[in-house]
Amino acid sequence: MYPELEQGLCTHCGTCLKICPVAEYREKKNPFNFGKYKVAGLHPKKGAGDFSECASAGFFYALACETVRHGGYVYGAVLSGKVKDGIMHVCGVTEEDILPMRNSKYVQSDLRGIFPVIKKQLLEHPEKNVLFSGTPCQCAGLHSYLGKDFKNLFCMDFVCHGVPSPLAFGKYIGWLEKRLKRPVRDYQFRCKKRGWNYKGRMSSIVKADRYYWPVVFDPYMMSFLKAKNYRESCYSCKFRGSERYSDITVGDFGGVREEHPEFFSKDGCSVMLVNSPKGMELFHLVEHNFECIDLTVEEICRYNPCIVESCRRPKERDDVYAKINILSGKDYVKKILSRNIVWKDIVLWYLPGRLTNCIRTVKRRLRRIESSKV
Ligand SMILES: Cc1cc2nc3c(=O)[nH]c(=O)nc-3n(C[C@H](O)[C@H](O)[C@H](O)COP(=O)(O)OP(=O)(O)OC[C@H]3O[C@@H](n4cnc5c(N)ncnc54)[C@H](O)[C@@H]3O)c2cc1C
Repeated sequence: MYPELEQGLCTHCGTCLKICPVAEYREKKNPFNFGKYKVAGLHPKKGAGDFSECASAGFFYALACETVRHGGYVYGAVLSGKVKDGIMHVCGVTEEDILPMRNSKYVQSDLRGIFPVIKKQLLEHPEKNVLFSGTPCQCAGLHSYLGKDFKNLFCMDFVCHGVPSPLAFGKYIGWLEKRLKRPVRDYQFRCKKRGWNYKGRMSSIVKADRYYWPVVFDPYMMSFLKAKNYRESCYSCKFRGSERYSDITVGDFGGVREEHPEFFSKDGCSVMLVNSPKGMELFHLVEHNFECIDLTVEEICRYNPCIVESCRRPKERDDVYAKINILSGKDYVKKILSRNIVWKDIVLWYLPGRLTNCIRTVKRRLRRIESSKV
């Protein structure tokens, strides 16, 4: 979906351009400084709760539970009733509502109708906190729409690679349903069945029949990891870098095994950057659930370059969307998406974890030596 002006209905008041975070980005006031208040790595403490369904350490889940326990509202992304329809943002007021919000969904979520409801809640219930969790651009959009800061609004974003269009996801699920000969009732983009580990051991699961699938065989996930199916705007994202519209930013703790092996936990390791005094309040609210280690922004960026720069747009991106409405689901997956499954990734998947990590470390060091020569 792209925004489009309906000339017949437009009254030329200019409001849409004023609140569009992209059009007016340079003039926007009060962005927060990335990691100004705290930068840390975290993993769940033993016995602190069940974070097994969370993407990494489960910081969002802990925060969301705490918010609803105090009577607040939580906004997060969930799978639509029909998986094929993609992801949408919903409001949660009980711990049960929070459960489907856990975990990363690698598709753009549908925010239709959400911002006006948030505004109404902020104005009518100043005593209740509203926690909004979304991509950096969604948090910027919300701030821009509201036009001013609310004491009871708390925003949390994550380090974002980019999001594919719901069209690509729907097409893929349609093909999967035909192949499995039944509807896909749930789809997890990543799971901790074999423990949390950055990339190598990540797997997705299709719960038509609790079907676990190594990520290297999942053509949708492989095109996501290789940055081939993002929305066009993600390749030149204006919401990366040091100015954020969120109080707190979380991400995967890439490089934890190499730089802090003693801190690694198979329950999931996150990085967390506190960007505002309100973010510090959020951190204090849930810190008792986590083991923490102090880090620096530079350390985090070394293993997560997309914090500051957009992913390179690969040439194959053209085909991913150009042919999506022409090809059948089978041809689309076979001819376009399956190109991303390569034997090297499959071999790496089957090698023991320690060996895979050694290979990655050697490759990274060689690359560093090469670039220092240049
Ligand atoms: C599209 C996408 C790209 C990402 N890219 C990177 C990356 O390159 N590097 C990195 O370090 N981390 C990345 N992450 C973040 C990472 O995967 C974890 O989400 C993050 O570490 C938070 O983990 P958690 O355990 O605290 O979250 P959980 O407790 O599991 O909660 C997940 C939270 O993410 C929100 N969410 C999930 N999917 C979406 C979506 N499509 N749109 C908006 N909100 C969503 C949920 O509402 C929920 O609030 C990405 C996440 C997404 C969704």
